[in-house]
This record gives sequence, structure tokens and C-alpha cells, in this order.
Amino acid sequence: METHSAPSSDRSDFIRDIIAEDLAAGRRETIVTRFPPEPNGYLHIGHAKSICLNFGAAREFGGRCHLRFDDTNPVKEEQEYIDSIMTDVRWLGFEWGEHLYYASDYFEQLYEWAVHLIREGKAYVDDLSAEEIRAYRGTLTEPGRPSPWRDRAIAENVDLFQRMRDGEFPDGSRVLRAKIDMASGNINMRDPVMYRILHATHHRTGDVWCIYPSYDFAHGQSDAIEGITHSICTLEFQDHRPLYDWFVENLPVPSRPRQYEFARLNLTHTVLSKRVLLRLVKEGHVRGWDDPRMPTLSGIRRRGYPAEGIRDFAAMIGVARADSVVEIEMLEHAVRNVLNRTTLRRMAVLDPIKVVIDNYPEDADEELEVPNSPEDTDAGTRMVPFSRELWIERDDFMEDPPKKFFRLAPGREVRLRSAYFITCNDVIKDTDGRVTELRCTYDPETRGGSAPDGRKVKATLHWVSAAHAVPAEVRLYDHLFSSAVPGTTGDDLFDDLSPTSEVIVRGARLEPALADTPVGTTVQFERLGYFCVDPDSAPGSPVFNRTLTLKDTWARLRAKSA
Ligand code: ATP
Ligand code: MG
Repeated sequence: METHSAPSSDRSDFIRDIIAEDLAAGRRETIVTRFPPEPNGYLHIGHAKSICLNFGAAREFGGRCHLRFDDTNPVKEEQEYIDSIMTDVRWLGFEWGEHLYYASDYFEQLYEWAVHLIREGKAYVDDLSAEEIRAYRGTLTEPGRPSPWRDRAIAENVDLFQRMRDGEFPDGSRVLRAKIDMASGNINMRDPVMYRILHATHHRTGDVWCIYPSYDFAHGQSDAIEGITHSICTLEFQDHRPLYDWFVENLPVPSRPRQYEFARLNLTHTVLSKRVLLRLVKEGHVRGWDDPRMPTLSGIRRRGYPAEGIRDFAAMIGVARADSVVEIEMLEHAVRNVLNRTTLRRMAVLDPIKVVIDNYPEDADEELEVPNSPEDTDAGTRMVPFSRELWIERDDFMEDPPKKFFRLAPGREVRLRSAYFITCNDVIKDTDGRVTELRCTYDPETRGGSAPDGRKVKATLHWVSAAHAVPAEVRLYDHLFSSAVPGTTGDDLFDDLSPTSEVIVRGARLEPALADTPVGTTVQFERLGYFCVDPDSAPGSPVFNRTLTLKDTWARLRAKSA
């Protein structure tokens, strides 16, 4: 058997298999891919799948990946989106180096190629309105009808197209169409529009152009100009592939890219459509594109998801040809795996109830050594202040506990993490009967959290010294949409928005080490979950976002479906 020295990847999916075969057979010398976002919104987790595939495969096979802004529609595109897209791709861990491109860089070349097709009798100027073009186009079961302008003389087409460019005609009055086949079974081949008139200022080319190429005319030719070998896109472009190939075959392009389609990512409890995400922002359902509930990369970053978790998730879901819906719990699982390994433990009390230790000296305090990570001793320890008055979590106490409740209750002893054993002796309530304070005693012999006589307790609680506590706002996040597949219940997709997707806790108390945690840092609040410092934090008053709770529900879901 013949052996090849072509680069290969540890990973395998049908796209990587095609690339490996092309390289091994010598059909391609190297691989060049591209990630081609339209700068009309922020990138979301679906785009991350495409980025990990395009940049990832290029890296694995020793090729390169371009970042190309597909900026052919001046109306919806903005610099803000371009900047955010570059930030997000880099954050995910990928780099395009010098290979940053804009489809708008190719407008002159694309225009010349359009003229080339006109001169070959393969494109014509059509005076029908958009509505008429649609009507003439036919349906899936009926062939289209030729436009009355289809057989215009070449010279007239050349002249009209030049005048379209010169700005003589109003928006929508004429288009340039490829002359292919009005009876084709594939509607995309029924003389598709190549250029439309649009008197709009483009974010890069200003007012130089008043005609703009369609996606179909711009995309493949941009690929060919850049020497893209594998033009990887999502399934909705499968029916466009014959047109992609037709343009490449009928134009004197410098290279022959090929298009391959894969299934887009769909996630439960999530909508991955820029149009819908824009609506969420515009209508004020969220704090902005980077709201921690948004599936945007800027949103999940603000929420505290690490880039590594997203890349791991992309590897877990793989790349397939058939559409499917992935459970959001799987993404959460991938993120927890990383956070569990990388975050430091801290203590925070979200719903505080006061504990007074009657036998602890008044006005005294001490510092106790607490591990930063029980599993990873390399993570070291920190000193945490302890004193007579502490905060513990309200739901760690029950006055009248049922059988299976092992935490604090009257007459019961529990451990305070890395501190002491305490016993509750008395419960103080306000006039409404709400518990306001627990009077306890501690055993000074149990310093560090174990008893010299070997006696055991059934629960370990987290705590914060009241005198040293830092007050904080904590925002608890949950799925943005209540139903697994949003939009399948009510009339309006937004009827599905979960009313509890964001719950704001204002009176949380943190251990002092959390006061100056830098924005964007994720820590584990003992027993509560992963929390990330929000940019809304101010000195002395931090704001934390709950990234995820500690409970991994994905394993359970998987077991259920197995
Ligand atoms: P829209 O659906 O609003 O047109 P888009 O999501 O297709 O937008 P683009 O900016 O055109 O946005 O996408 C850039 C690239 O990301 C494309 O190659 C597209 O196929 C890919 N992509 C977009 N959404 C997903 C998704 N959910 N899963 C995988 N890839 C995606
Ligand atoms: Mg698109």
C-alpha cells in the first residue's frame, strides 16, 4: 500500500475526511478555508461551530483560514459588528493573521466579471420589478417564464449595466440577472439576480457604488480570488451549489474552490438567528448583545463561559450532514468540565441569615486558612477572617427539619467550612415570625474543621464573617426561553421568554477576597455554582453573574435517553 505524508487530523468528520483525501491524493497542495460572517450582528454559539470547523481544520491540516466580512448589503452593516466579530474570533482562540478580507474589496473585480458574463450572452439587465420577477420565477412544481427583457442585445445590456453603476436609475428599477435556465428544477438556477440598485452608503466604500452584488454572485468569486480550497457553509446553501459552480465555471477566475455543506447548530432553549437576537436587543428584553442570557459569544463570555469550554463543546457535537437539535445541557456540561478544573473556590452567601456565636469573644477575630481548591492542592490556600457574627445561607437552616435535612437546626451541630463546629441553641424571630438570627456556640477544639475526639457532623456549611463581608449584587441566570424548542407553544416566539431567566439578588455577602476580583474572572462559590465578575461592578461593590449551578443535568439526560 502507498503511504502519504500529507498532514492529517486527530479528529474525524466528513469534512475533515474530504480534506484529508484531497491532500493525500494530491488534488490540493494545501488547504485554505474561510469564515465569512456578514457584519450585521454579533456572533453566536452557532457561528462558533463554524469558526471551530474552519479555523480548526485549517490549523490541523497545516493550511490557513481567512476571516472575510461578507459586506455586500450596505443597509444592515456596521463597524460595531465588525469590531465585535474580530474580538470574538480571537477570544475563541483563533487568528487570521494577515488574512483579513472584505467582499467589498472585490467590488471592482466582481463588476468586471459581471460585464464579462454580459458580453458572453450569459447575463442581462431586467426591467421587471422584484414582485414580477418573483411571479415569473415559477414554483417548485411549475417552471418559470422568461422575462420579456431576457433577450436584450448584448450592447444594450452593457450600456444599461454601466448606467446602473453610474446611478442613472432609482432603487429597484432594474437588476442584472444571470441567463441560465428558467425551466430548471432548481429555482436558484432560474436566472438568479446578480446585482441590484441600492443608493445607500456602504460602511467601507461610502457612496462609490449604488449597485451591489448578491450573495450568490459575490461569495464563490470571493473564494476564488482568495484561493479558498474548501468553502464550508451550512446546509441551506446546498441548493445554491450548482449556481456557485456555474459562476466559477463561466468566469475567468484564478482558482477553483469547492463548496461543502454541514448542518447548522441548533440548541434547545435557544434561538440562533441574528434577526431574532437583534429583536431581543431592540425591544429591550435583554441588557444588550452581551447580556449573559444571550447565546452570543459576547453574552456567554460575560456570563463566564470559557472559550475552552466552547471549543470542547464544538468537538463533542462534531460535524454532520443532517440537521439536529443539541441539548443545551451538553454545552453546560462542557463548560462545567473546564470551570471545575480552572476556578478557585470562594465563599459567598446569597440569602444571608445571621449567626451569633455566643461563646466567641466580642471584638475578636482571627484568620483561618482555607484551600482554594479541595481537589487541586497546587491551587494553594487563602486566609479568611472569622469572627463572632457570621452570615450563613438562609436555606441551610430549618427550625423544624424533615428527616433528610442534615444541615443546621436547633440543638444540632454542623461544620463551618475550614473553621469550627457550631451548635444552634436558640432561634430569634421578628414579629412576623421570620427567623432573623441564630444564637450558636462553637467548639474551640475544632479549629480548621475537625474534632480531636473524632466526632462527626453530617453537614458542612459555607459562611462569611459579618464584620468583614463585602456586599454584592448577584445576578442569577437561567435559560432565556422556557420551552426546549422556542416558538412552538404560543403565537409569538417571545411569549416563550422565561420570566425567571434573570433573578437579581441585591443583599449577597462575599468573603473579602472577592472584593477586587478582576472583571471577567470566574470563581466557584462553594456549594452554589460558578460566578463571574460583571463589568457593571464598581470598586467596593462587585456584581457577579451566575455562570452555571454545580448540578450537571446532562449526564442524567443522557442516561435517560440511553
Ligand atoms: P442569518 O441566518 O441571519 O443570515 P447567518 O447566521 O447565516 O445569518 P452569517 O454571518 O452569514 O450569519 O454566518 C457566517 C457563517 O456562520 C456562515 O458560514 C454560516 O453558515 C455560519 N453559521 C451561521 N449560523 C450557524 C449555525 N447555527 N451553526 C453553524 N454555522 C452557522
Ligand atoms: Mg448568512
